[in-house]
Amino acid sequence: MTPYAQLSKQDLQKLYDNCKEKYNRYKAQGLKLDMSRGKPGADQLDLSMGLLCALNPEDYLSEDGTDCRNYGGVDGIIEMKKMFADLLDVRTDEVFVGGNASLSLMYESVIAFCLTDFMTAGEKSKRKFLCPAPGYDRHFSISEHLEIEMIPIPMTPQGPDMAEIKKHITDPAVAGIWCVPVFSNPQGVVYSDEVIKEMAALKPVAADFRILWDNAYVIHSFEGEPPQTANILRECEKQGAYDMPLVFTSFSKISFPGAGVSAMAASPANLAKMRAHMIVQTIGPDKINQLRHVRFFKDLEGIRSHMKKHGSILRRKFNVVLDALTTELEGKEIGSWISPKGGYFVSFDAMPGCAKRTVALCAEAGLIMTTAGATYPYGNDPDDSNIRIAPSFPDVGQLEQAMELFCVAVELAALEKILEH
Ligand code: PLP
Repeated sequence: MTPYAQLSKQDLQKLYDNCKEKYNRYKAQGLKLDMSRGKPGADQLDLSMGLLCALNPEDYLSEDGTDCRNYGGVDGIIEMKKMFADLLDVRTDEVFVGGNASLSLMYESVIAFCLTDFMTAGEKSKRKFLCPAPGYDRHFSISEHLEIEMIPIPMTPQGPDMAEIKKHITDPAVAGIWCVPVFSNPQGVVYSDEVIKEMAALKPVAADFRILWDNAYVIHSFEGEPPQTANILRECEKQGAYDMPLVFTSFSKISFPGAGVSAMAASPANLAKMRAHMIVQTIGPDKINQLRHVRFFKDLEGIRSHMKKHGSILRRKFNVVLDALTTELEGKEIGSWISPKGGYFVSFDAMPGCAKRTVALCAEAGLIMTTAGATYPYGNDPDDSNIRIAPSFPDVGQLEQAMELFCVAVELAALEKILEH
């Protein structure tokens, strides 16, 4: 395949005409396809239906005798803490169990750890967060909503660019960093142990600086075993910075998004602060759901074997996406992509200046993609290049159709740009 940059104007015009005709044929079909959000497919949700009958009417006591039907236990029941401790490889007294959404725990943590004391001290200036990008749009939404200024940090194949991070943490207004260390959203990058250790050794000027370590995809590999990465909590403890990391995860993509269980792992001092913060807004989380999860999954081995089933469903769908990209686009040099080994996304980089147009062309023909730019703070992708592909929700047939259309849109947008149409 000859790169498009090496083709004559005449050849490019021919390609453009073909591509436009193909695109119009898709447009005429009135398709309704969606590859915008990382939602599990119905076949994945089916895997957890046993949860709904995991408890019988006599089964409502936790192992320490807590009646799970009643108020209380703001940080969760003991067996759920143990399960999360195993999942995150931390101690049980380092776990706070939350409601269904880890995002809520992150939101509350930013308020509790990075804003409350700062505001009480009468500080008027804005706080800032470092945002490795491309990254997770909802992290950026939390920052924006709480009026925290966002500083984009470039990503490398090993994790965020540590030299850039070190430049910024000399500013006392810089209060934290968002990290997705395993199968990052959207690139599927797994942080290297070197990056994790360097992160733990950071010496930020802001004494209350926190690393928000969103380990949403800790066990979500669809090729091989889940990655064994260095443990941020232990590494920070070794560095005398035990209070710096706040680790998050949830069962959203293990059982049911919306009816799973979330958790935060951190130093006991941080957990005490979190308990004091959370008790004001809730007398306790849904302990029945926690008990149900413990009964259904039993232990880490139970979660592992369940995740293998998710993995084989997802592997098939990711292969559809990656095969389409290879067949339709490889060698043309109008886009590049990363093949992940887990997580929920494929990160695609269109030719600079083409992401918004590609996503608009998809939308016009009935395919909804994540908004171009959403993977950057303030929705501002400086190259207008990154597009997040979420293969999990459509079925394989829809996915094949969606990817054919996506590749035509990528090509059409690139040819328009090259030919200055
Ligand atoms: N963190 C990351 C990196 C995600 O990609 C997602 C969902 O896509 C979430 C968190 C959401 O987690 P939860 O459902 O626990 O709020």
